[in-house]
Amino acid sequence: MTKYAHKSKFDNKKNKASWLTFFYVGNTDDVFSENIRRVFIINLFASVGILFTLPLGIVSLIEEKTVLGSALILIAFLYAMNHIYLRRTHNHGLSGNFVIYPLYALMIYLVYTGGVKGTGHVWIYCIPAVSLFLNGMKRGLIELSFFTLALIITMFFTDSHFAEFGYDPELKTRILFSFIVVVFLSGIYEYSMSRFNQELKETSAKLKLVAYIDALTELLNRRGMLQRLEASSYTSFHLLLADVDFFKSINDEYGHDAGDYALSQLAKIIQVSLPEGGLASRWGGEEFLIAVCDCSESEAFSLAESIRQDVEDYEFEYLDQKFRMTLSFGVATMNESTSLREAITLADSRLYSAKRAGRNRTRKS
Ligand code: GH3
Ligand code: MG
Ligand code: MG
Repeated sequence: MTKYAHKSKFDNKKNKASWLTFFYVGNTDDVFSENIRRVFIINLFASVGILFTLPLGIVSLIEEKTVLGSALILIAFLYAMNHIYLRRTHNHGLSGNFVIYPLYALMIYLVYTGGVKGTGHVWIYCIPAVSLFLNGMKRGLIELSFFTLALIITMFFTDSHFAEFGYDPELKTRILFSFIVVVFLSGIYEYSMSRFNQELKETSAKLKLVAYIDALTELLNRRGMLQRLEASSYTSFHLLLADVDFFKSINDEYGHDAGDYALSQLAKIIQVSLPEGGLASRWGGEEFLIAVCDCSESEAFSLAESIRQDVEDYEFEYLDQKFRMTLSFGVATMNESTSLREAITLADSRLYSAKRAGRNRTRKS
């Protein structure tokens, strides 16, 4: 990444959907970001968790189930704190643990005691989805295996509520098997979703590349260059606009493919001459726009001259055909008094003044 790779002012979508930003904790800029997705999911689960645990906790307290009621209200409180913590730190790793571990514990407790009137076990089916969503496929399945083990121990090897409420002993195996089926189905769903997400990410990256990179030279294209320059936090930089002299005659004499090859070689010459933090782009057919910062006007002029000289000295060779090319340059500076558009226009008019003066030269005024 170069010095121009700063956040674009055009990317600001904060006011788009305020209810969503509550769960994204203010950041909806890049929905493909894994971190942002996790923060979003944790927040959403914690909020849904509060909606269920708080009323159920109050009901349990009213029914004088003090331990269960206090546990549910404690979890609701923990989830609310979790939202505040996420908002401040974006630490979704620790936050995810805050959501899932109390939930595992609560579920085992409900299975053991029967919760309200022996219905505690019906809540365990929310565990697979939450665990897989929060932990991802691998860690999710490992944790779910441990949870299933804890479930087996609680149901079959402890004095759990099943006998107390007169349930058929067969019910325990049915609960266990149906829970495993839900784990399995949730696993398949999570797997297909993560595959889909991965493909979406890759396609999006490819599309971005196609939209901003020139296929022939692999430099930024005009749109990519403009976007980077406009997004730059630099208030001053120099623009070097180059155009190949008599390029049409190269095409006419050596063929269009030779012309293409020459453009890609030219891009390489420009790229190796580029100082750190500089940007180079294919601005048009045989035009290249270079941007450099942290240097004086005369250093920018020298850079244009040195690239011009390198190209003049270079012998292009394509299918045994040898030819030479030259460049004309127009140099202009963007600063507080000259906008980006004005500087581009200025560089363009200086380039054409270099052309008029005989080509193969650089103009800075
Ligand atoms: P000047 O010194 O005035 O710039 O002369 P020129 O011949 O370079 O300028 P002109 O604008 O007349 O011609 C530019 C040529 O560049 C015409 C066009 O066919 C060629 N060109 C533009 N894009 C490409 C490309 O991608 N590949 C090839 N091979 N040629 C291209
Ligand atoms: Mg030209
Ligand atoms: Mg041209």
